[in-house]
Amino acid sequence: MYEGNYLAQRLAAAASDSGERIFAHLENGTDLTYTDFFNGAQQYANLLIALGVKPNDRVAVQADKSIQMLQLYIGTVLAGGVFLPLNTAYTASEISYFLEDAQPRVFICEESRAPALQPVADAAQVNVLKTLNADGTGSFATLAEAQAVTFEAVPRSADALAAILYTSGTTGRSKGAMLSHRNLWSNASTLRDTWHFTAQDKLIHALPIFHTHGLFVAINVTLATGSSLIFMQGFNIDQIMAAMPKATVLMGVPTFYVRLLKHAQIEADFVKNMRLFISGSAPLLAETHQSWSKLTGHDILERYGMTETNMNTSNPYAGDRRPGTVGLPLPGVEVRVCDAQTEQLLASNCIGSIEVRGPNVFSGYWNMPEKTREELRDNGFFITGDLGIIDDQGYLSIIGRSKDLIITGGYNVYPKEIEILLDDIDGVLESAVIGLQHADFGESVTAIIVRNPDSLISEDAIKNALQGNLAKYKQPKKIFFIDELPRNAMGKVQKKNLRESFDNQ
Ligand code: AMP
Repeated sequence: MYEGNYLAQRLAAAASDSGERIFAHLENGTDLTYTDFFNGAQQYANLLIALGVKPNDRVAVQADKSIQMLQLYIGTVLAGGVFLPLNTAYTASEISYFLEDAQPRVFICEESRAPALQPVADAAQVNVLKTLNADGTGSFATLAEAQAVTFEAVPRSADALAAILYTSGTTGRSKGAMLSHRNLWSNASTLRDTWHFTAQDKLIHALPIFHTHGLFVAINVTLATGSSLIFMQGFNIDQIMAAMPKATVLMGVPTFYVRLLKHAQIEADFVKNMRLFISGSAPLLAETHQSWSKLTGHDILERYGMTETNMNTSNPYAGDRRPGTVGLPLPGVEVRVCDAQTEQLLASNCIGSIEVRGPNVFSGYWNMPEKTREELRDNGFFITGDLGIIDDQGYLSIIGRSKDLIITGGYNVYPKEIEILLDDIDGVLESAVIGLQHADFGESVTAIIVRNPDSLISEDAIKNALQGNLAKYKQPKKIFFIDELPRNAMGKVQKKNLRESFDNQ
């Protein structure tokens, strides 16, 4: 099936022996077979061709999560196009930037947003706008019904583009990471094997599908295995609890686990059918890892990746899953910690720039040759922008984003070191340490604290608790209290927002 289309051929192969295999258990209680899933994708591919999509044309979509959006992904790949999903939170003016930048042949959005987005598409000279809603309705879906369910896949090589994912843009403008058929397939097959996926697996899918985690990690691994999804609109504790006895794997961000831990019903017996809990996209606190192990008997498997590279490291499936680390390089992926300027490799246990190379690593940023040259070295190593340490056994720990590093009075301060101490103080629920502009020091260390609901812990008490544990220059000069840390859809703390809010205070 799909001969000559590198990614589609491989993704469809696992389930091709039995079309009656279930691809997804849906929220409405019905099941979707692989045959029905691919038939729908083929109708979409026919429609995309009819709408003028040629090889390498972008198909952009901002729509709520649905199976139809996944069919659009596969349909785009079949039609030789480049799938470009956009965060559902983006406003019309943000969408304007993406449409201007990516110049898609087709743009698909929710029907309710079409009146606001039509002028944006017109201004960007994107001539085809169709709609697709979470319930599978919309003008795109209606037009597709008249299309044939058979489709000859458009041939695409391993190096052809399959998708562009824009980075979340926590610092500066969002950049479109260009991902090839090979990038996606190599990672899907590696993760399938590394995490021991089999056709019997049932994966709880509660992540968004505009991001690499919910889209490529979850969906491509499932397709590559011929296993099933338990497909949910979003994260809902009751739904996850109801699905758990029937499921085998959960892929989550750390906040999933933090919230589930508050649920009284979780215990070893309840998760006895589950074989694997995976976490990524943001740091999982060692404390969360340990509490989960104690309660369920399962060690969460933490992995590390990003939009530009897919997944890079994983704690072992069989072997020591170390809390606070993101594990070992995946097979075929090289991970090194070096001095960002000199490119010199650092000894184990030294903090440096994390760089990765492998078939999973993107080919560059769309329309941004300079940014590409800055971040992708000639020898193929991608400068991730993360700081990390590799220990004597080869386990990688993430220290934070290099842009979040604080330089105060000429000294480097790693926020994570201070956050760990702050989080340990009684009365502190969580913390974020940032650098704010300072006339004398350049930047001053500042802590933003969320107190436990019943705590009234004061600034002085926190400062006292840190004294003796931290060099003076690392101690926060100022402490602010807030109710909640700002996080994005993947649970990442938005330090840029914090810096903007607290500068000049
Ligand atoms: P994104 O491109 O939105 O997926 O964000 C990628 C970034 O998320 C990485 O560069 C890391 O800074 C962070 N990240 C991903 N996984 C982890 C993890 N397991 N622990 C800590 N940070 C992570």
